[in-house]
Parts: sequence; C-alpha cells; structure tokens
Amino acid sequence: MSTVLVTGGAGFIGSHTTLLLLEAGFEVVVVDNLSNSSIESLHRVEALTGKSITFYQTDIRDKAGLTEIFAKHKVDSVIHFAGLKAVGESNEIPLEYYDQNIYGTVNLLKVMESAGCYRMVFSSSATVYGDPASVPITEDFPTSATNPYGRTKLFIEEIMKDLSASNDRWNMVLLRYFNPIGAHKSGQIGEDPQGIPNNLMPFISQVAVGKREKLSIFGNDYPTPDGTGVRDYIHVVDLSDAHVKAVQKIGALGGISTFNLGTGNGYSVLQMVETFIKETGKSVPYEIVERRPGDIAECWADASLAKDKLGWTAVHGLSEMIEDTWRWQSQNPDGFK
Ligand code: NAD
Ligand code: UDP
Repeated sequence: MSTVLVTGGAGFIGSHTTLLLLEAGFEVVVVDNLSNSSIESLHRVEALTGKSITFYQTDIRDKAGLTEIFAKHKVDSVIHFAGLKAVGESNEIPLEYYDQNIYGTVNLLKVMESAGCYRMVFSSSATVYGDPASVPITEDFPTSATNPYGRTKLFIEEIMKDLSASNDRWNMVLLRYFNPIGAHKSGQIGEDPQGIPNNLMPFISQVAVGKREKLSIFGNDYPTPDGTGVRDYIHVVDLSDAHVKAVQKIGALGGISTFNLGTGNGYSVLQMVETFIKETGKSVPYEIVERRPGDIAECWADASLAKDKLGWTAVHGLSEMIEDTWRWQSQNPDGFK
C-alpha cells in the first residue's frame, strides 16, 4: 500500500485530505507541529474512517526529526500543507513567514531528496495572481504578490520549478486554491480558526452561532454587481479530492504541473450572507466598513485544466458548502476545544 506523508495534516484542509486518502486506501503519515490545529481533528478522522494515522508532532524546519521520519517510512509522495497563512499577520512578522514557509519547504525538499522521495503536491493559492487583469483566471496569467504571505507562495513555486528543471526525477504538482470553505458532511471536522477569523465564512458562522456580534463587510464600492468583493468559494472536500487525484496521477503527469482549484463561479459578500441566512434560518447582522487594504474586487477560476489533466471537477454547490459549514459550526461552537 502506498504511503503519503501529509505536512500540516491536522489543519483544516489537511485533515479533510487525510480522511479522503485513508478512504482511498493510502497509508498516511502526518507531520504537524500543532501550532494552528488540534490533534483532536486526527482522532476524529480515525473514528470516521476506522483507520489509523501515524502522527509526528514535528516542525518542518526540524531536519533531524524529518530525516528520522523518512527513514522509518517508505514515503511515496508528500502533500505539503504546513505553513503560516494569515495575510495581515505576514505584514507584521514577515521573517516568521519566510522562515516557516520558505525555509521549512527547502528543508523538507532536502530531506526528501536525501531519502529518495521525489514527489510533492504543494498548497499554493490564487493570491499568486495578485490583482488579475480579468476573470476567469487561467494558470498562465501573470503572477505577483502584494504581501509576505503571497510572496512565500510565489517563491516556493519558483523553488519547486528550479528543482524540477534540475533533475527530472522530481514530480511536482502546484495546486492554487481559490477560497476553501465548508466541512465534512459528518460535522465532525471543519475549520477551527484561532482568535478572530480573518476569512469571511468562519466569521459569518461565528456571528450566526452568537460568538461575534456582527460581520464587517469590507467595502461596497467595488466595481462588482452589488459593490462587494466577489470570490470563488470551493468546498474543502472537493479541494481534498483534487489532492487525492494529484497523488494518483503525479507520476503520469511527470515534471511540474500547476492547477487552479475553484468552481468557476463567483459570489459576492452580500450573496454569501444572504445565502447563509436562507440556508440556516439564522440572522447575520452586518455593517459596511472601509475596504480592507490589499483586497481585490473579484477573482474566480477557470479550472478546466484540472478537469482535463486530473479528471477533477468541483461537485458541491454553494448551498451545500454553507449547510456543511453550519453543521460543523453549530455542533462545535468552540471548534475542537
Ligand atoms: P491550517 O492552519 O488549518 O493548516 C496548516 C497546518 O500546518 C496546521 O495544522 C499547523 O499546525 C501546521 N503547521 C504550521 N506551521 C508548521 C510548521 N512549521 N511545521 C509543521 N506544521 C506546521 O491551514 P489550512 O487552511 O488548512 O491551509 C493549508 C495550506 O493551504 C497552507 O499552506 C495555506 O497557506 C494554503 N492555503 C489555504 C487557503 C485557505 O483559505 N485556507 C487558501 C489558499 C492556500
Ligand atoms: N470579507 C469581509 N469581511 C470579513 C472577511 C472578509 O467583507 O470579515 C470579504 C473580503 O473583503 C473579500 C471576501 O470577503 O471580498 C473574502 O475574503 P477572505 O478573507 O475570506 O478571502 P480572500 O480575501 O483571501 O479572498
């Protein structure tokens, strides 16, 4: 049975991907320092699947620790989620972002190379498109970054391209996520942000569950149909499914490939709030405030390349994304605590 090592596997997207990998018959080794997650997520994945996970509480910057793990397990592929991901925080502590995201990834790649493991699927982001000139976005659009977090994604993509060009044993897949939301249908695992959520969906659901007073909508004067920002929200289970397909096809794809992971549909902030209210029957008080610096007006994916090459397409619609988010949030108002 083939073994996948998942860095950041206790986190939001990592825990859902671990669940799908186990269901698809892979052995899973998770490496996570638990800086932004709880081991409880993996206990729940084990309970849901009836399968066990090998877990190491290890930092991806710990070379000796990683080397030992690769010596113990014959790892076929790595799915690399681990890293810091808050845009605002990255402006305040850029060195921490460069250290954990970039140095951490270089360290991981070196250990993989020494261990003879040459397959990596990496979590990139639509943030690498900066402020796109048009929508929908295809993978060949120009890339840029406006903050240290985005720069770490861009640099890591470049590092992986250089590595792939240096030795054709390397097989890499760069997955550029649009806006992941939703949760597993069981309501047992989901997104559990520490402190005040930065992202729209967890903020809306915390308002609905009574943990926050009201949502601040960042600007209603964008050049969009209702003036609020438009994004391509994608169900985390669809996103996770693309990782399973990427691992299954990475050898056949060869070299390095880049795929957008989105639904191809854009929804505004007001549409998200209205659909949430309709689907859950909860009230979501909100006020319009200033634009958030660095935000773009609209962004959605052309995901046809992933359909052609990975045989992947998103199947969950917005109502299901919201229903599943709400099941998780209402059953676990304090997350995994
Ligand atoms: P998350 O914070 O829930 O998961 C990341 C996991 O990595 C956490 O469990 C954390 O404890 C672990 N981790 C962080 N630094 C580590 C380190 N130095 N060593 C070992 N483990 C470490 O985040 P997520 O939403 O699941 O995101 C996963 C990946 O996807 C990240 O790389 C993120 O940048 C990327 N991404 C996320 C989104 C999003 O909106 N959620 C969008 C685009 C890209
Ligand atoms: N947004 C908002 N209030 C919030 C959080 C987000 O109005 O508290 C808006 C934000 O301006 C953007 C959309 O919701 O138009 C999605 O924001 P998120 O931070 O979730 O994703 P990203 O900006 O990274 O696409």
